[in-house]
Amino acid sequence: MSTFAETRVEILGGIGMIGGSVILVSTPKARVLLDFGMRGLNQGLLRSPSGPRPGYELVDLLRAQELPDAPGIYDPAQLTLDPTLAAARAAAADPRPTAVFLSHAHIDHEGALGFLDPSIAVYASVDTVKMLDALNDTGQPRPGRTLRPIPVAEGERIQLEDITVEVVLVEHDVPGASGIIVTTPEGTLVYTGDINFHRNEGRRSHAFAERIRGVEMLVTETTMLSHGKGNDRPVRSEAEIDEIFTATLQRVPGLVLLSAYSRDVERAVRLIELARRNGREVIWPSRDAALLHAMGATNVSSWAPGRPEQDPRPLPESVNRVSMEQVVAEPGRYVVQPDGHDAPALADLPVVAASTVWVHSQGEPLGPFMPNWHVFQDWLGKLGIDVVAAGSSGHATRADLLKFIEFVAPGCVVPIHGTRPEDVEVSVARLLPEYGAVYRLDGSVVE
Ligand SMILES: [Zn+2]
Repeated sequence: MSTFAETRVEILGGIGMIGGSVILVSTPKARVLLDFGMRGLNQGLLRSPSGPRPGYELVDLLRAQELPDAPGIYDPAQLTLDPTLAAARAAAADPRPTAVFLSHAHIDHEGALGFLDPSIAVYASVDTVKMLDALNDTGQPRPGRTLRPIPVAEGERIQLEDITVEVVLVEHDVPGASGIIVTTPEGTLVYTGDINFHRNEGRRSHAFAERIRGVEMLVTETTMLSHGKGNDRPVRSEAEIDEIFTATLQRVPGLVLLSAYSRDVERAVRLIELARRNGREVIWPSRDAALLHAMGATNVSSWAPGRPEQDPRPLPESVNRVSMEQVVAEPGRYVVQPDGHDAPALADLPVVAASTVWVHSQGEPLGPFMPNWHVFQDWLGKLGIDVVAAGSSGHATRADLLKFIEFVAPGCVVPIHGTRPEDVEVSVARLLPEYGAVYRLDGSVVE
């Protein structure tokens, strides 16, 4: 029997795709799931404008094979619409204690949490739990049942029978993003979650890389390799984004539009502060304002009550409220973040054709792969609004990722969360995983 006879690794989601990452590590005594994300619903049987039915999401997603499959992980109470499915699941239960560890609060890593069996404990870093709670409390809940993950401090080790798990903060673009270290009696598997080395000089990610040198197996995201070789673009630093935003605020005399990602609290707070220094106030849709406030941001502003919004959220007193009359009277004093799903609302704003710009910095609509991108672009075109690109990926560049893998020098690297895992060309052994296969920690297949 090989040294890695007892530890099993199965990749249940995220193979050849950006999204739906789920990794199962098990021993005869316990099971640990790393992330529990939704696959993007931009393709497949439930793509827009179809979609799972509210209240029956779990059944619809399982029938459409949009969720990972493992015995005993789903909530039986949400399967009652399909007695056959429920009976099959009940028969295939697994007696081992099971826990889920989350890398970060992005839907492709945590979106399917609400479907989990209530007996499964969910753990995540302190800031990831804070973000998930804030999303839940501000009208952006996940489908399925509400659950509160258990916060894990850095350095804290969670023990599940003979498996030990630790979360270590890394650079990404959402508070609390972590890599996960899983140790079994036979060795260590490390999962990057989503990671980059260009924000904050990659400080956390470099410390993480030092920490995990020489582990048996490294499961890594490969998002940026999906553009294909020869299509790599340099990534902007956060300082460059600040410069572009500031220059735009100073160049445009009237209203400036912004599309920033409210889950990227660090950048949103910086853009609010830059706007203030340039005599402007950033007005967010109430949903974004509620989230930023819940995450501790200050100087958050939103629309005065009465402004039509697609998904109006109640706001605390400390969020400043601005009326459309104020914006129309002094457009040069404001930056407005439009709701990407509410393009017609753009026409309410005091837009000046060929002068007003939309500063696109990772907010919605994010890109052509989103269903609302093209119609939003058509509205910008109709109103004569130019786009100023001011984004920067939260994922590692090809060069940084390959350097990271070589530095860590794991026994085996497993590329997931990208459409071109085969582009991970490194000197260490590589495993291109397949669904349904069971691997040992050294990457060999369990027959
Ligand atoms: Zn992410």
